[in-house]
Amino acid sequence: MDDDLIRQVEEKFPFVANEYAKNLAAKSIAFRKQMELDVRELDDEDDFSEDPFGEDGEANCCLGLKQRFPDRVLIMASNACFMNCRHCTRKGLLKHADVVRTDEELSDCLIYIREHPEVRDVLISGGDPLVLPDDEVMRFVDAVSSLEQVEVVRLCTRALSVNPSRITDELAKRLGQNQKVWVNTQFNCADELTQEAFDACQRLVSNGVLVSCQTVLLAGVNDSAEEMLKLFRALQRAKVRPYYVFVCDPIAGISHFRVPLEKAIAIEKECAEKIGGLGLPRFVADVPGSKRKVPISELD
Ligand code: SF4
Repeated sequence: MDDDLIRQVEEKFPFVANEYAKNLAAKSIAFRKQMELDVRELDDEDDFSEDPFGEDGEANCCLGLKQRFPDRVLIMASNACFMNCRHCTRKGLLKHADVVRTDEELSDCLIYIREHPEVRDVLISGGDPLVLPDDEVMRFVDAVSSLEQVEVVRLCTRALSVNPSRITDELAKRLGQNQKVWVNTQFNCADELTQEAFDACQRLVSNGVLVSCQTVLLAGVNDSAEEMLKLFRALQRAKVRPYYVFVCDPIAGISHFRVPLEKAIAIEKECAEKIGGLGLPRFVADVPGSKRKVPISELD
């Protein structure tokens, strides 16, 4: 590979991976593709931008708080991750993202939420909030859940698939003690459901934390019904609810992961024929300006 081009890729979105991810990548091609730099990330896609959802624009309501839908907001608790997924929706934004750090910044977020009583669901996200120490994670969780109007606090993390030992008994217990906490995670192929990952899911589940999975449909990783079904079945064994499969967002730098719409629809149809409803996520697209996640069968 051309060193200069790879350097350009690194400048745009650096390579980051912990030891666990590197070891898993050595065993799984499907996982490795999510971690490895690819010169095709430089392909410019005229129709795509770094910020199609206006997270740095109209959706940015106060420092580190984004709102795109009336009933939910997202708080940026970190701009770092255990691994930089090459397909990340925020790959162009993370480097310079505003992150909530001080008590005053967190308090401003709470003020915003109180001023918007229709907000009932708060995502603590990033980046990955679990790169923070437990006390810091709980500072966000406790502050947000203390608001009566907030009924759901979603901790969005890829730790389960890229750093499962981060889910310690102690952390799982503390999260489980808060009745509002859900964990949203991302597994993209069955190889990611290692024994360590399975055990980490169990620690959360046995402490009363519901875990849901959002998968991204990625060319060369999971773009067949067979691979998807393997994943959904493994998730169900781990008592993780397969929740959404997203087609790639309209962001620049991920063209090599895009799956043609007809193929995505065919994968969804075949999965629906072969697994029961509890194991079948909704295949959707996040469409800029839309008030909902759009089923792929409705896309042009
Ligand atoms: S863990 Fe999430 S936020 Fe971090 S790089 Fe991967 S997809 Fe992006």
